[in-house]
Amino acid sequence: MASNQTADIESILNEGRKFPPSREFSSRAWIKSLAEYEEMCRRAEQDPEGFWAECAKEISWFKPFDKVLEWNFPFAKWFLGAEVNAAYNCLDRHLSGPRRNKAAIIWEGEPGDSRVLTYQMLADEVGRCANALKSLGVETGDRVAIYLPLVPEAAIAMLACARIGAIHSVVFAGFSAEALAERIDDAEAKLVITADGGWRRGQVVELKRNVDEALKRATTVRKCLVLKRVGSKVEMRRGRDFWWDEVVPQQSPKCEPARVDSEHPLYTLYTSGTTGRPKGVLHTTGGYLVHTISTMRWVFDLKEDDIYWCTADIGWVTGHSYTVYGPLAAGATVVMYEGAPNFPENDRFWQIIEKYRVSIFYTAPTAIRTFIKWGDSWVKKHDLSSLRLLGTVGEPINPEAWVWYNRMIGGERCPIVDTWWQTETGGIMISPVPGAIATKPGSATRPLPGISAEVVTREGKPVGPNQGGFLVVKRPWPGMLRTIFRDPERYKQAYFSQIDGMYFTGDGARRDEDGYFWVMGRVDDVINVSGHRLSTMEVESALVSHPTVAEAAVVGRPDELKGQGIMAFVTLESGRKGDERLKDELRQHVVKEIGALARPDEIRFSDALPKTRSGKIMRRLLRQIASGDKTLGDVTTLEDLSVLSRLREDEE
Ligand code: ATP
Ligand code: MG
Repeated sequence: MASNQTADIESILNEGRKFPPSREFSSRAWIKSLAEYEEMCRRAEQDPEGFWAECAKEISWFKPFDKVLEWNFPFAKWFLGAEVNAAYNCLDRHLSGPRRNKAAIIWEGEPGDSRVLTYQMLADEVGRCANALKSLGVETGDRVAIYLPLVPEAAIAMLACARIGAIHSVVFAGFSAEALAERIDDAEAKLVITADGGWRRGQVVELKRNVDEALKRATTVRKCLVLKRVGSKVEMRRGRDFWWDEVVPQQSPKCEPARVDSEHPLYTLYTSGTTGRPKGVLHTTGGYLVHTISTMRWVFDLKEDDIYWCTADIGWVTGHSYTVYGPLAAGATVVMYEGAPNFPENDRFWQIIEKYRVSIFYTAPTAIRTFIKWGDSWVKKHDLSSLRLLGTVGEPINPEAWVWYNRMIGGERCPIVDTWWQTETGGIMISPVPGAIATKPGSATRPLPGISAEVVTREGKPVGPNQGGFLVVKRPWPGMLRTIFRDPERYKQAYFSQIDGMYFTGDGARRDEDGYFWVMGRVDDVINVSGHRLSTMEVESALVSHPTVAEAAVVGRPDELKGQGIMAFVTLESGRKGDERLKDELRQHVVKEIGALARPDEIRFSDALPKTRSGKIMRRLLRQIASGDKTLGDVTTLEDLSVLSRLREDEE
């Protein structure tokens, strides 16, 4: 029966709770009912191009498109013949109406400083920065690396690139000089925008020093623009390095937006590296804007007076699509916070929500699990009544974490949008439409209109209800990646070679009897126990539902009898101690929750799990530890190397 080649993934998780939207929420939502959502889906199904052409009206085009889609498998072009500019869409078009003096960015620095930029102010700053880039020799099509802390200038720099048709490549400021050099090389960036340093938990991260280090190896960079953020002493090389303060402010705020082709590249960005060597994804302009702005309305139900906060760093795609391009194109007020959630104390996020009256809050499951570990008292100190909608992205959310989020943060009044998407998809693909779809904890629910997501066998046949399989997308969509930068072969190989004729996401999923999608994690992480293919996520969720467990990661390790045995790495809630008795109790708990098949063979307690810098658990590293393998492959995206050695020491 089951073999790695052909089998589906078995699903054993059974989560029955269901949360319909309140009548009050639905009546005010953009999409008010299931019928309305289904009608949109039907229209999109019958005439996908007509549907997306309709959505494209939300964007300001300099020149209209004459064709919606060209699908030369597996390469897509959207809105052909059109001319557009992303910065114009995020700024200029808001300036002629009441949004002109609306706050575009409300920013809070880690030390407690803050700034507010209205749309007019932001537009002026972007114009100045764009002119400065030109004066430093940047032209349309050139690549610019951005290595900045989460300060307003990060968004300004991205939009300034977009304004002149330069292609940005943002590198998360937590990455090392080595990772930066690699990414600069890959993009052949001509210029780097950085800062003297950034704040992280009260400490200075020496960004300029990392750039200097990186530029010893990366040879394409001619100029470097340096923002003063922390005031630390840095080396400035004459002719190469320029202070932002000395180049940008004296420029004219007026800079004509470049009228670029709809398919002009907007940016390249690397995936998180959860499963292996990160891929440099390329996104273009027109389709990407249409996808991100549409989802602001469908998923976040964005209204004119919302205060919207997505906690993702601009170093990740979430920061690109849902801190910068989507919300600003939609004219939102965006909150940006520079620092750590536990600085100076564990309640910084709740303080920010209270201070700015945040109404939409979008964060990651890893953060939510951390908040649970820190304890409820931090949340209870604050008034979170301004919130009306919550979101998550990045990993499957364990039902118990979902329920906590709903109760403690949302006061049982805010719908939760569990949004499934990828760096590659550019925008949200599967998510509740909050006024229309009843949520179930742990499920991203249903695909958005126009998104033809499906769960199939390796042969591409749809699986039955509650049968696990491969998550694919059958038709192209406007926000999709166009290729892997300068590597179209890897693009074909990574996404279009596994399942005939479809985009393969790399994730496993099942659909339940209501057609809801349950993303079960990466197919690479699936465990094969006695011929049963189990999803790590389901066993982890069972562990996390035990009151002592904060976080769990489950991997397979070779087992002579069963093929694979289950090994669980478990982090306990603050103040709990792990011992043999608790291990037994946890094993029993898993058996009770999902069955004897999923009983962990070994449990190891650990104060931390290896994660990517974006906070995702790297199971491939745990798998290697579990099987005693000493070579670990690519660890450049690992957040904290010491976690690995600690996990290893525990073996002895
Ligand atoms: P790499 O592709 O380099 O291994 P990565 O897949 O972690 O890294 P991202 O593009 O940041 O890089 O993450 C996308 C992945 O995150 C998805 O494929 C999925 O596995 C997971 N994911 C994102 N959102 C959700 C969600 N709401 N539910 C379940 N999984 C999610
Ligand atoms: Mg991926």
